Amino acid sequence: MNNPKRMVILGAGESGTGAALLAKQKGFDVFLSDSGEIKEKYKTELQNHQIEFEMGQHSEAKIMTADEVIKSPGIPDTLALIKKIKAKNIPVINEIEFAGRYTDAKKIGVTGTNGKTTTTLLIYHMLKKAGFNVGLGGNVGVSFARQVAQENFEYYVLELSSFQLDGMFEFKTDIAILCNITPDHLDRYEYQLENYIASKFRIIQNQTENDVFIYCADDALTMKHLNSISIKAKKIPFSIQQIVEEGAYKENNQINIKINNQEFNMYINELALVGQHNTYNSMAAAIVGQLYNLRKETIRESLQDFENVEHRLEFVAKVGSIEFINDSKATNVNSAWYALECADAPLIWIAGGQDKGNDYSLLKPLVREKVKFIVCLGKDNRKIHEAFMNDVDMIINTTSAKEAVQVAYRFATKGDKVLLSPACASFDLFENYEDRGRQFKKAVRDL
Ligand code: ADP
Repeated sequence: MNNPKRMVILGAGESGTGAALLAKQKGFDVFLSDSGEIKEKYKTELQNHQIEFEMGQHSEAKIMTADEVIKSPGIPDTLALIKKIKAKNIPVINEIEFAGRYTDAKKIGVTGTNGKTTTTLLIYHMLKKAGFNVGLGGNVGVSFARQVAQENFEYYVLELSSFQLDGMFEFKTDIAILCNITPDHLDRYEYQLENYIASKFRIIQNQTENDVFIYCADDALTMKHLNSISIKAKKIPFSIQQIVEEGAYKENNQINIKINNQEFNMYINELALVGQHNTYNSMAAAIVGQLYNLRKETIRESLQDFENVEHRLEFVAKVGSIEFINDSKATNVNSAWYALECADAPLIWIAGGQDKGNDYSLLKPLVREKVKFIVCLGKDNRKIHEAFMNDVDMIINTTSAKEAVQVAYRFATKGDKVLLSPACASFDLFENYEDRGRQFKKAVRDL
């Protein structure tokens, strides 16, 4: 008998551990290596499945014997170890690519700069309601590989970040959704927007004429790239700005979805998720519903009763007559734009954190129109001061969620809304955006 193929997995988070479980089940000789700590629950699981692992280091000698490497999307290609692996012509893939080899399930992939999680969860909610045997994976929840190893789903809805798409080569989605593209994470793409766009478009690689590509016709970067390539899949657009022949569009305060001569429509004010950005997300989900011929009632109900995801324009509480909204997940300028766009004035805007090369000029008209004053929540707030000093009455620096909430509350007057929508990453003061959102909510409840 041949020796089993050696699979080395780098990074032991949910995706790495899931990949290790699947690789073991498929008979590979598996070694998992994490340069940091591995969570207790994953260690136990690896031990229970007799999977060899190390943490706190990457032992090159053991890693270089791999036939193939599965890399966590968090590890950049520029890492010396990854360069060495590639120089030795050892293929480097990711968990989604690997797991895709072992399932015949239909796959719906969602990517984009903003809106991935919301759209993914909306579609999952809809398909579950329709009675589909469906799993949810990618960037959210349980890893895809773990589910392929342990479940028997016929459909998967997968949230795919550009980092994940970069490790995918043969994988094919049956339905691909590209929510939008705005500059983000450029540090991982040699500061070339074209590279980031190309990465997003990997969502349609390997698609055939039997597959579907759903995209936003109002998104300038998507359209520019789309017009420069040829696509085999059936293209279905969604738009708020124009009426499309086939796809989703807005007319008379309704969303209309026209697919295969079937029409579905629904008033925008019936949608569970508010804001223009969520109208887009709801349209994309409704297109999937129509493609699978779901009952109109099922599509309608799921768009009506979907419960918003934590940290995305999440209503926290009304204290006195002051409303607090947590949009901590708005880690870039574009997502903060949508939050400011759909929020009612007068606003007290809590913003700031770790800047990713932000250009705030896009936000200036909305800030001038709606924001009374800004509370900065970050270590270095210079750029925010420079950008908005002439647009608002006051800009105050704070360095904790508690202080930000207290300052906002102290200066708020009847009917004001306090919106945390930072437009920045959180790592200067918090563990991550969830931590920032939770600390914000706690501070509001403690008022
Ligand atoms: P992702 O998973 O792509 O980061 P989320 O659904 O978690 O997207 O939303 C992230 C942030 O972007 C939230 O602040 C949310 O309000 C905002 N957002 C959601 N959908 C869109 C969209 N279609 N366009 C722009 N911003 C959006």
